[in-house]
Amino acid sequence: MHTQRLILTLAAWGVAASPALAAFSPEQAPGRLPKNVIPLSYTIAIVPNVAALSLTGRESIVLKVRAATGTIQFNSLNEKLHDVRFDGKPVKKTMSNDKAQLTTIALIKPAAVGTHTLSFSYSGKIEESAQGLFAQPYLDPSGAKRTLLSTQMEATDARRMFPCWDEPAFRATFRLTATVPAGWAAVGNMPIAKRVVRGNLATITFQDSPRMPSYLIEFSAGELAQISATKNGTQFGVWAVRGLENNGATALANAEIILADYNEYFAYPYPLPKLDSIAVPGGFQGAMENWGAITYNDQTLLLSASSSIVNRQTVFSIQAHEMAHQWNGDLVTMAWWDDIWLNESFASWMAAKETDLRNPDWKWSEAQDEDKEDAMSADARVTSHPIQQHVTDELQATNSFDPQITYSKGQAILRMFEAFLGADKFRDGIRGYIKAFAYSNATTGDLWNALNFSSGQDVRAIAAGWTEQAGFPLVSVVASCDAAGARTLQLSQKRFLLQGVDKQQASWKIPLQIRSGSDAAAHALLLTHQDQTAPAGRCDEPLSANAGALGFYRTRYDAATLAVNTRNFGRLPDPDRIALLDDQWALVEAGIDPLPTYLALAASMGSDLDTTAWIQIAGALATIEYAERGTPGHEAFAAFARSLLKPAFEQLGWNAKPNETAAVQRLRRNVIRQLGTLGDPAIIEEARKRFAAFLSDHKSISPDDQAIILNIVAQNADAATFESLHAVARAGKDETETRRYYAALMAVRDPLLAQQAAQIALSSEIPPQADSLRLQLLQRLSDRHQQLSWHEFIDNSERLLKPFAANAPLIVAQYMPEAYWSGIPLSEVEAWVRAHVPAEMGENVDRGMETARFKLAEKDRLVRDTDAYLHR
Ligand SMILES: [Zn+2]
Repeated sequence: MHTQRLILTLAAWGVAASPALAAFSPEQAPGRLPKNVIPLSYTIAIVPNVAALSLTGRESIVLKVRAATGTIQFNSLNEKLHDVRFDGKPVKKTMSNDKAQLTTIALIKPAAVGTHTLSFSYSGKIEESAQGLFAQPYLDPSGAKRTLLSTQMEATDARRMFPCWDEPAFRATFRLTATVPAGWAAVGNMPIAKRVVRGNLATITFQDSPRMPSYLIEFSAGELAQISATKNGTQFGVWAVRGLENNGATALANAEIILADYNEYFAYPYPLPKLDSIAVPGGFQGAMENWGAITYNDQTLLLSASSSIVNRQTVFSIQAHEMAHQWNGDLVTMAWWDDIWLNESFASWMAAKETDLRNPDWKWSEAQDEDKEDAMSADARVTSHPIQQHVTDELQATNSFDPQITYSKGQAILRMFEAFLGADKFRDGIRGYIKAFAYSNATTGDLWNALNFSSGQDVRAIAAGWTEQAGFPLVSVVASCDAAGARTLQLSQKRFLLQGVDKQQASWKIPLQIRSGSDAAAHALLLTHQDQTAPAGRCDEPLSANAGALGFYRTRYDAATLAVNTRNFGRLPDPDRIALLDDQWALVEAGIDPLPTYLALAASMGSDLDTTAWIQIAGALATIEYAERGTPGHEAFAAFARSLLKPAFEQLGWNAKPNETAAVQRLRRNVIRQLGTLGDPAIIEEARKRFAAFLSDHKSISPDDQAIILNIVAQNADAATFESLHAVARAGKDETETRRYYAALMAVRDPLLAQQAAQIALSSEIPPQADSLRLQLLQRLSDRHQQLSWHEFIDNSERLLKPFAANAPLIVAQYMPEAYWSGIPLSEVEAWVRAHVPAEMGENVDRGMETARFKLAEKDRLVRDTDAYLHR
């Protein structure tokens, strides 16, 4: 699809030619700032003082006054403004309110409609975590302590670096100047226009940015170095702390490939002269799509000899995500934060598509099934929320970046619509949307209108149910057969919940994909009403009502059809098999179907090497194993689970075979890891042997296999082995090894060693750029040591959460209850969590607590049903 340029009827796509795609006006965006004054262009000059964590600045903003006004209001935080002038003359009064994050200027006389200039000097702060302009300490490759400056503005933190209209609808141009040590390099959204050195300081001015929202501003400076290339007129750079820049070689090559593909997909060439990728040590988690200057946590951009295939996959897929934002997000921006899903779901969907296209042997689209399942678990809660969430105050925007719903559910919905409309029509709609709203903002409705136009279908009517209401449907399929064996389906729906009842009685227009028989093509069917009927092949053929696993819904088949599917399980196309496994497991978890219906499917796998199916099964077995821990039935279940996994392991063996795909290698690692956790003596013995060889020669285990082998060894470690593992961790060559080896230490089962592991996680052995690792390490420790992990967490929470900056409250509210449900009284967890997040996050806490209560109830049920099954 990407290899040939398809000539589109773009001529028909002028903005004016398509009245459905009306131009954006700021009134369409909610927000706190008045719309009567709009910034057009900013000129900002800052002088950071890293040692004092402060900055001084001078700012001049050209404004358009749309209605005469005596006051001007914009965002500021922790800044003191002075020498404030309007059209060169002093103003009556300047009031900054840090609580409201607003500055209000009273003019001596009202400003007339037209263009004016506001200017001022100010002083502000450099932050110590990733909000606004922040200072990041790190150890350089030689071990010397250094600091660099970088920025993280989304959602509402540009105002911490300079006062501005900090809402996404206020697009303006930005000319940024910064004065930094002369030995430093500096990177911004645009190329450097001018660099003047005076003594030991350099003053750098970047070219004017295009019109863009403030949350996309980027500025990094420090002892940075880059590698670069130019392709098709775009200058690509990968920046890292000096000495690590060559670890960006893969990222540089990836960026060239991805940009070329996206230029073609969007039929709108990347509009900036350059695209930099900046590896920030520590700083923040993940990456940020600043226009022309994407920042990444360095672990998601740089690759070294220590990197594994998982690291390489992370780099490509995150690059593909952030680069998709250069169009959807940056060139076209959501009007307001309630449409953040437009940015995020789209980027995730596009990234999966691109990663799959360029790395077919990773089977990336299939692997997205795990993300979809994660989203479905979250969305099967009574307390779930719609993809489109009302955000009244931009200060709540950060809390609406709910990864499971905003990213993963949205991505799955787009994939379902793409399949339903056809990939070409879907792409044509996207092209029309980008062209119509370039350098502007848009709403979800605008996207649906563009897709209506390209597909001729009422996409908006179908889509509303998926983005405007929480949850998703369970489709009940009841087959009837005529005398000749021809099958007719009767289809109904209701909301799928893991527990509780659906008070709203929600319903959806569901784009089904039906396949009868294992080789037949699927056909699309829109389910719009209860008891809808459709012909579907013959009754003795297997049936999928979610062919290709493309739908965001669950399917429950009548007993006879499920029996046919189970008998033919080995012959199903891989995606249909994963859909069946996912659905049957969810039906068991929800108490709708009995456990043996799922175990019968799992037992039908035999030695088939379908990676995605096995990973699903391994996940379900791990859930049961966790439930059985400490019960009399644990060993019997572990033996049963080993017997299911063993045939696959016999096929796979320990060592990769020549020409084996990455997906099969992933399966091997997964099966070995599970067998190790399930206490398989031969696996543990072999892991120990390999670890002994590793101690004398690290090259004896490939980076891909180190994590699983070290984890199995750590689980069963005595004090001496633990000491060896710890020595390996201390000697890690780079952060990739540090993260991998310290994580292995946390797998220990011995309680005394676990206490040592907790102390290590909190110690200064972890370098400052890996500060965020500490919380992840304690989370791993919680798998077997709930009390220890919980107490270390609450005793050190401030320090542990600091690296997560604005995301910390969401982590506490939604994920802490999910981590500590099994060993800490839920009332204790809930009380602590509620006391440590803002009051308006009550619903997020409700979600976390609902999951915790569900898991606790499920545990007892799984133990009872599993024991009954094994003693039948
Ligand atoms: Zn994103």
